[in-house]
Amino acid sequence: MTFDIERWLSTIFSDAIKYKASDIHIVPEDKNVHIKFRVNGKFVKYRTIEIGILETLVGKLKIMSNLKMEESRLPQDGSFTMILDGKEICVRASTMPTLFGEKVVMRILNPESESISLESIGLNPLQIRKVKEYAKRKNGLILVVWPTGSGKSTTILSILKEFNPDEFSISTLEDPIEYRVKWIAHSQINHGIGFNFSVGLRSILRQDPDIIMVGEIRDVETAKFSMEAGITWHLVLSTLHANSGANSIQRLISLGTEPNMIISGLKLIISQQLIRKLCPHCKRKYVPDANVRKKIESVLRESIPPGREVTLYEENELGCIECNYLWFKGRIGIFEVFELTREMKMLILSKQSENTLDDQAERDGIVSLRQDGIMKALQWAISLKELESSIGDV
Ligand SMILES: [Zn+2]
Repeated sequence: MTFDIERWLSTIFSDAIKYKASDIHIVPEDKNVHIKFRVNGKFVKYRTIEIGILETLVGKLKIMSNLKMEESRLPQDGSFTMILDGKEICVRASTMPTLFGEKVVMRILNPESESISLESIGLNPLQIRKVKEYAKRKNGLILVVWPTGSGKSTTILSILKEFNPDEFSISTLEDPIEYRVKWIAHSQINHGIGFNFSVGLRSILRQDPDIIMVGEIRDVETAKFSMEAGITWHLVLSTLHANSGANSIQRLISLGTEPNMIISGLKLIISQQLIRKLCPHCKRKYVPDANVRKKIESVLRESIPPGREVTLYEENELGCIECNYLWFKGRIGIFEVFELTREMKMLILSKQSENTLDDQAERDGIVSLRQDGIMKALQWAISLKELESSIGDV
């Protein structure tokens, strides 16, 4: 019987979609090739095949992704679109030569962008109101920051969806483009030819934009241009590697951004972390002990009335068919929505420490990531263990 590569690949892709995998890794070793899925940020072993099939498999993927067939000594990247069960799936593929053959990693670009909204990503009603209020002003920079993993493009897309595409010109500069939305002018950054974020931003400003999404702020030029564009009546959305609002301000200052530029251009910082959600079908209820109760009280800075029972949920070790025996199903964001109040701006101008800014955030009534996480544990969406494995001890 001949090996039907096309049928075999379509099984891999439909299983990846079923598992809600974000990436498919094809990793060659001396005798075998491991196929792994990244699901909710963690690896799941999918299949192991014989090394003999690798060449046919990589060859087929190269044809699909428009890559050079004969080139196996240099890394390449490309993309393709396929129809699976009537749905269009976009895939970015990259190859890398390794000791045992070419390794291929495929990112499945989110097929469910229609269902994304500020409400669906896990922001609480107060945070949603704040984000909408600042977005509607249509000027200034809104930053989405995160320490690890992804999810930032989902948050940015949910803000962009607040705007009617018939009324606003929306442009993006991305590396890579994660969602493809018909009414957005997506541009792919290409460092190889000098098309970087700051160059792209200068060009976009000549294209009469209302809303601009700049993939990431990595240098002072991009930070400065993003804030200047914000000051001159554009809404600019961007991301930064940082773990809180106060930490982002320190990052911007250490990149070389002037504090007075920050306080006039930057409006809001949304910090986020994605936490795996417990499978609602097999999660297990428990009553935490007095120590955990005390920890919760100290994070939330309020005392739980003595008679009130606190219940939390944890993963059931067996799992169930609904979660493919993985205990978790999907992820939810925990958020901090950091506003630059008048008092905060004064502290930024005098270059105060991150701790001082954090203390001010607390006085301003900003819910921290840790507090939002505890609230989501108390709402039974996530386990305390999973929260602590992401943000450290609470
Ligand atoms: Zn389950």
